[in-house]
Amino acid sequence: MNPKAWRFSALLWLGAFLCLLATRAWAADWVQVRAAVDGDTLVLASGQTVRLAGIDAPELGHDGQPAQYYAAQSRAELQRLVDGQMVRLQVLGRDRYGRMLAVVFGRDGAMLNERMVALGAVFVFPHKDDEALFDRLLSAQRLAMDRELGFWPRILRLPAASERYVGTRSSRRFHRLSCPYASRISARNRQYFASLRSAFAAGYSPCRTCTPWPHSSR
Ligand SMILES: [Zn+2]
Repeated sequence: MNPKAWRFSALLWLGAFLCLLATRAWAADWVQVRAAVDGDTLVLASGQTVRLAGIDAPELGHDGQPAQYYAAQSRAELQRLVDGQMVRLQVLGRDRYGRMLAVVFGRDGAMLNERMVALGAVFVFPHKDDEALFDRLLSAQRLAMDRELGFWPRILRLPAASERYVGTRSSRRFHRLSCPYASRISARNRQYFASLRSAFAAGYSPCRTCTPWPHSSR
């Protein structure tokens, strides 16, 4: 072979090798979903559990506890979005239960974490310091609140919606003023809110002990 043909052949092989690498990297990112466990958690075909980062869904009933309002609808929305699909994961780490914490993308490239917030089917729940993700999800949440989508019309009209709340700046959790945890927040870390809407609009999420979120039967 002359030198020109050699160079051409070498380039072809290099190209084929790079294509193979790119395909493998692409394929490694995509996973098959088995089902949505609730509005913020998926089980993969591999059996692994994936917790969608930056969001929280109303709780389905378990351990004798009744389901929270909109829990079943929230799960149904996530199930609808992932139904029979492959999804792409951007894994951010693990949550305190050892589950994969991830940003999840559908086949059309849409971020499912954001899609769920935009539908008013989950609320923003900061897990870790990812300000870019938090800002993006919070913008979607403010829009869903303004447009009264999903659970927002009912949540923002609860009798408790006009109460004042107090939040912890560092963890972005908010409490009713009567919650035992509220009195433990240091003055420096304390953030007051005039209403439930203003607490959610700031990206704070409700304390699980004193949450004003209603049960599904009420
Ligand atoms: Zn509380």
